Amino acid sequence: MHRVDDVTDQMIRHVLAYADGRLRRDPVPLDRGTKTMAELDGLLAGVIGRHGRDPDEVLDVYSSVVAPNVISTDSSRFLGFIPAAPTKASLVFDALLSSASLQGISWLEASGAVAAENSVLRLIAGEAGLPTGAGGCFVSGGSAGNLSALAVARETAKRRAGDGRRRLRVVVGTEAHSSITSTLRLLEMDALVVRTPDHRLTAGAVSAALAEDPDLSDVAAVVATAGTANAGIVDDLAGVGALAREHQWWFHVDGAYGGAGIFAPSLRDRYRGLELADSFILDPHKWLFAPYDCCALLYRQPVLARATHTQHAPYLDALRTEDSEWNPTDYAYHLTRRARGLPLWFSLAVHGVDAYRDAVEVAVRLARETAELIAQEDHLELIREPELGIVLFRRRGWGPDDYLVWSRRLHRDGTAFVPPSLWEGETVGRFAFLHPDTSMDVVREILRQTR
Ligand SMILES: *Cc1c(COP(=O)(O)O)cnc(C)c1O
Repeated sequence: MHRVDDVTDQMIRHVLAYADGRLRRDPVPLDRGTKTMAELDGLLAGVIGRHGRDPDEVLDVYSSVVAPNVISTDSSRFLGFIPAAPTKASLVFDALLSSASLQGISWLEASGAVAAENSVLRLIAGEAGLPTGAGGCFVSGGSAGNLSALAVARETAKRRAGDGRRRLRVVVGTEAHSSITSTLRLLEMDALVVRTPDHRLTAGAVSAALAEDPDLSDVAAVVATAGTANAGIVDDLAGVGALAREHQWWFHVDGAYGGAGIFAPSLRDRYRGLELADSFILDPHKWLFAPYDCCALLYRQPVLARATHTQHAPYLDALRTEDSEWNPTDYAYHLTRRARGLPLWFSLAVHGVDAYRDAVEVAVRLARETAELIAQEDHLELIREPELGIVLFRRRGWGPDDYLVWSRRLHRDGTAFVPPSLWEGETVGRFAFLHPDTSMDVVREILRQTR
């Protein structure tokens, strides 16, 4: 299985030829899953057996059964949830990364890869305004980043209080991401939920909630969101960050989706206060055009993360030699990790940071133009001015089923993937712009079909 014989030789050529063809798809097809689980199970039954099969046969199953039954989140017509738009450079480099089994765990095993990843983390930390000592690692996604960061917040608070058993609380707004809720459950912390009348966590809203709470001594942290997943709202980072400083809480900023907005000159002001963060996450696999799975996790004081996450074992101590400059494994809940920051490193180097700034701006522009179109139509209603790349709107007179029929028809026709969302309990239309090649013509067609 590990030797290059004739079959392997042919397999490498054919699989790479497939990848080559996929990488060259322009535009990327939208596709959609049309089969039931039973149908797919039937088509895949017996593919893995006791004895091996011809690689070409298996590749055929992949290209005829597996690949078409997905929706390509990197299609410029994918406007649902949070889309993806990895650059060709990042995709092809991801393939290279996979071909080399690069272990991203430690300086000892991968100093070159770690140094390259860290250069990207430093770039992001610099844009965020974090001090030069900030650092961290790349993890699989925002959920892993939030969990790892808030684990450090909790351990730090417990150490400072000299009490490892007290149950702690974290201040969160009602719009915090679902992964924050699940993180708090896993870490056995409770949420001090702040009602956000305008869906934005502000210092005023936090102060009002605090005023009603008799005892704040168990509060360890506050979480602000830099770009909510549903509506792209950036919390009052400066105000909430200042409150965190005043109360000596850990200030975590969840920028999984919207954090990349720091690269857009037109959005700069919205991120004021991010420089106060004790920890910050940003998913390059969302708005920074990297392949899955990639989240940048940064700490203001990496030493605190090491105190929480460094794993010790007799066979691991060899990792920590005197010249072990930086071990990514020490900054999150993981040990083995792929050097998943490298595709982004390669692509940033190939295209330059300015191209990234421009590409992030495109989504902001698409959202603004779409909002203007919606505002011009009597049968449509803009729910709020978009801040980043997400637009929510109402079609007057429509109920949940009407949105579903409309959205399914658009997907079936191959026009676009635009599933509805919920806003204050009401089903609404939602655009999530991210791909720089999305055209306003597609938007016009989608809106035309609301008539
Ligand atoms: C997407 C998202 C997450 C979760 O990130 P994953 O990479 O999907 O795990 C967390 N917070 C926000 C605000 C997000 O948009």
